[in-house]
Amino acid sequence: MADGAYPASWYAATRDAAPERPPLAAQGEADVAVVGGGFAGLHTARLLALQGKRVVLAERRRIGWGASGRNGGFVGPGYAARSGVLIDKLGIDHTRRLYAQSRRGVEIVRETIQAIGRPDILMGAGKLSVSRTDQGPDFADRTRRLAEQLGASFEPWSVAEARAKLDTTRYYQAIHDPTSFHIHPLNFALALAADIERLGGVLHEGTDATGLEHKGDRWLLRSAHGSVTARHVVLAGSADLGRVQPRIANAVLPVATYVAVTEKLGPKLGEAIHWAGAISDTRRAGDYYRVVDGDRLLWGGRITTDTREPPRLREMMRGDILSVYPQLGDLRIAYAWPGTMGYAPHKMPQVGEIEPGLWVCSAFGGHGLAQTAAGADAVASGILGDASKWRLFAPFGTNWAGGPIGRIATQLAYWHLQASDWWDEKRQARNAETLRT
Ligand SMILES: Cc1cc2nc3c(=O)[nH]c(=O)nc-3n(C[C@H](O)[C@H](O)[C@H](O)COP(=O)(O)OP(=O)(O)OC[C@H]3O[C@@H](n4cnc5c(N)ncnc54)[C@H](O)[C@@H]3O)c2cc1C
Repeated sequence: MADGAYPASWYAATRDAAPERPPLAAQGEADVAVVGGGFAGLHTARLLALQGKRVVLAERRRIGWGASGRNGGFVGPGYAARSGVLIDKLGIDHTRRLYAQSRRGVEIVRETIQAIGRPDILMGAGKLSVSRTDQGPDFADRTRRLAEQLGASFEPWSVAEARAKLDTTRYYQAIHDPTSFHIHPLNFALALAADIERLGGVLHEGTDATGLEHKGDRWLLRSAHGSVTARHVVLAGSADLGRVQPRIANAVLPVATYVAVTEKLGPKLGEAIHWAGAISDTRRAGDYYRVVDGDRLLWGGRITTDTREPPRLREMMRGDILSVYPQLGDLRIAYAWPGTMGYAPHKMPQVGEIEPGLWVCSAFGGHGLAQTAAGADAVASGILGDASKWRLFAPFGTNWAGGPIGRIATQLAYWHLQASDWWDEKRQARNAETLRT
C-alpha cells in the first residue's frame, strides 16, 4: 500500500506519478522563497508565479506529504473558529469580510482545478453538516439568519430531508452548502506543483529550511546544503516548521486526526448513504466522511494532541462508522492513517507580514483546503502591494502556543468538548425517553 514516498493511504495508492525534485544544493536568488510544500506554500507560490515573480519553494519531505496530501478532501468556506465566536470578537462586518475571503479560497481551488485542466480532481459537489441532537423548531429560521449575516449560501434541511439522504437515526437536521465540493487532495497538490514549474517556479524536495537571516532589505534562507536570497520569505510550514523561525514554530500546536477508507462495500453503501457530496457532523470534534471510488467509504474523525498512530486505529475507525451506520455490518478497513493539523490557540489562521518581507501563512487547523488558498491569496496580494486582505487576519496574533503545556491544555479542552457532545446527546435521548413514558 505504501509507495515509499508517501505514508500509506488511499490517496497515495491512487496518486499521479510525479518527479522527485532535487534538494536545494546551491546559493540561489529569488523574488520570493517559500517554506513548505503543502497547500499554503503551493498556492502562494503559484499565485505569485502567475504574476511573474521568481519563486523558490523548499519542502522538507515530498510535495503534499503533510496534512495537504492526506486529509478528508472537503473544500468549503468558513474557518476552524466558529462564526459566532468571530462575530462576538470582531463584529459582524469584519466577520463577513473574513467569511467572504474564505469563499474566495473555495473559488480559487475550483478555478485552479479548471485552469490546470484536471476536472477529475473534483470528486463530488455539496456538503451536509448534520446535527446529532434535535435543533428544535426555530432551526430553519436561525440558519437562514446566520447565512444572511455571513453572506453564506447554506440552507437548512429538516430531519426528514436529512434522513432521506442518510439512513441513520443518529442525525437530526442538516445545513446544506451547495458551494462546497470534495477533491483528491494529494493529486491536487501534485498538480499545483507541476503548474508552478510550468510557470517558471523552482521546487526543492528533501530540503529542510533551517536558518533565516535578515541581510539589508533581503532575507537569506538556509538549508543544510544551500541557500536562497530573496526579498520576501513566506513561512508555510504549519505544525512542524522546525528551527527556521522559532517564534512562529512555537505559535502553532500539532493536533492529530485520522482517516480510514473501507474496502469496496457494494450496494449496501448506496442504500445507507444516498448523497454524493461531503458530510460532517456538527460536534466539536465530529465525524467527516464521503463516498469515494463508487462504493468505498472515506471516514475521518477524532482529534488528539498525541500525534503517534494509535495501535488499534482500524478497529477504532470501524467502530465509529458502525456506531452511525450499523447496517454496514462486517465492513473491512483497507487503509487508515493519521495526519497532523496546525492550530493556533485562537483557532484562526496566521496570515500576514510579521517583519518587513517576512510573511506567515499557517495554522489552518482542520479547515484548510479552501482557507490555505484564501491565506495564500492574502499573502500574495500583500507581496504585490495590497495589504487589505491580510489585514483582515491581523487581530489574530502569532503568540506562543504554550509548548508541551499548551498541548496538555489543548488535550484537556478537547476532552471537555467531547464530554459536552456526549452529554448533549445523552440528555436529549433521556428527554425523548421521558416524553414517551
Ligand atoms: C487527517 C486530516 C483531515 C483533514 N480534513 C480536512 C478537510 O476535509 N477539509 C479541510 O478544509 N481541511 C482538512 N484538514 C486540514 C487541512 O488538510 C490543512 O489545514 C491544510 O492541508 C494545511 O496546509 P498547510 O500547507 O498549512 O500544511 P501542510 O500540508 O502540513 O504542509 C506543510 C509542509 O511544510 C513542510 N515544512 C515544514 N517546515 C519546513 C521546513 N522548515 N523546511 C521545509 N519544509 C517544511 C512540511 O514537511 C509539510 O509538507 C485535514 C487535516 C488532516 C490532518
